[in-house]
Amino acid sequence: MKTNSFISALECPKCGSAHDFRTQAHLCGCGSPLLAVYDLEAAKKTVTKESIARRKADLWRYKELLPVLDEDNIVTLGEGMTPLLPLPRAGKAIGVEGLLIKDEGVIPTGTFKARGAAVGVSKAKELGAAVLAMPTNGNAGAAWAAYAAKAGIAMSIAMPLGAPPICRTECAAYGAELRLVDGLISDCGKLVAEDVSRLGHYDASTLKEPYRIEGKKTMGYEIAEQLGWRLPDVIIYPTGGGVGLIGIHKALAEMRALGLAEGDPPRLVAVQAEGCAPIVRAFEEGREESEFWEGANTVAFGINVPKALGDFLVLRALRETGGAAEAVSDDEILRAMSALAATEGQFVCPEGAAAFAAAGKLREKGWIREGETVALLNTGAGIKYPGVLGG
Ligand SMILES: *Cc1c(COP(=O)(O)O)cnc(C)c1O
Ligand SMILES: [Zn+2]
Repeated sequence: MKTNSFISALECPKCGSAHDFRTQAHLCGCGSPLLAVYDLEAAKKTVTKESIARRKADLWRYKELLPVLDEDNIVTLGEGMTPLLPLPRAGKAIGVEGLLIKDEGVIPTGTFKARGAAVGVSKAKELGAAVLAMPTNGNAGAAWAAYAAKAGIAMSIAMPLGAPPICRTECAAYGAELRLVDGLISDCGKLVAEDVSRLGHYDASTLKEPYRIEGKKTMGYEIAEQLGWRLPDVIIYPTGGGVGLIGIHKALAEMRALGLAEGDPPRLVAVQAEGCAPIVRAFEEGREESEFWEGANTVAFGINVPKALGDFLVLRALRETGGAAEAVSDDEILRAMSALAATEGQFVCPEGAAAFAAAGKLREKGWIREGETVALLNTGAGIKYPGVLGG
């Protein structure tokens, strides 16, 4: 059965050129990631709040706005429609009474990387990819390995030695070929690039295929739908490669064109760790791109990305929405993790804790105003990182 996807092209956000979505596509000739474009005018006639509301509680409820054309190619482990919960005690403690958390810790593989993997692997399957390859800080590799296993597609992964051990175990269990690298994710990326050109693997690196972002954008759709198609004032996102933030920004634009969401778009906030904050620095210096961050190091491994391919898209999203970029220390992250667990029963991942820490700092500065609704993305389950709090 057809999904009735309204995808109409792949477009380069840098040079504006259009690319075919019916064949395997990676970067634009100009080096930029490609973004999927949909015929939203046509979609508007069939995609309504009511039609969406009748569907199963997973991210495929937005299938017309996802790139997979045939339902037979959908590879699913039940991802999406994660809870959006109020944090009354934690919110009160930092002066943000309208604090919400989107809890991605309950999704398959324990992190929101499952969203990108579900849509990315499904589309790779539809395009006939034989072997998928990617560098990863751990969670993306684990998620893609899981969905590749489900799809019956081979997966080759390069991961830093310092990545959380659980992700190694997961990749191995899912049957992926795993290489451990004494270096950063950027070093892993070089190995994968070699394999892609030498062996013809399908390059599934962050933003080097256009569909992972489509999976992650569904967080934006869900937040809106769960608030009755109203939007929060602020969305705070722990930013590594920035895919989720770019995706949420894209979802906001699509929802506006579709007439789904009301009100001003939320101000988007990118949070990084003080030990690796290339996007925060670029934002503060008014630059359009970030510079490689030397000596990147933080307890929040998922956001330990010294230079992101899509940095210019993240910076654009922050500026277009009147957003902000904020760095938090590892100390603040660990304290935020303990506080959320003790006051809300939420054992968030260090990255999610970084978002909570940033909310406190932005409220203190007055950037978050009294009475505003603020949604934090908790991008993964704290129980994936049992050593972090010293237990
Ligand atoms: C990958 C990851 C992030 C960062 O995601 P991007 O979309 O690449 O910025 C944040 N938190 C966790 C737990 C992650 O695994
Ligand atoms: Zn281009």
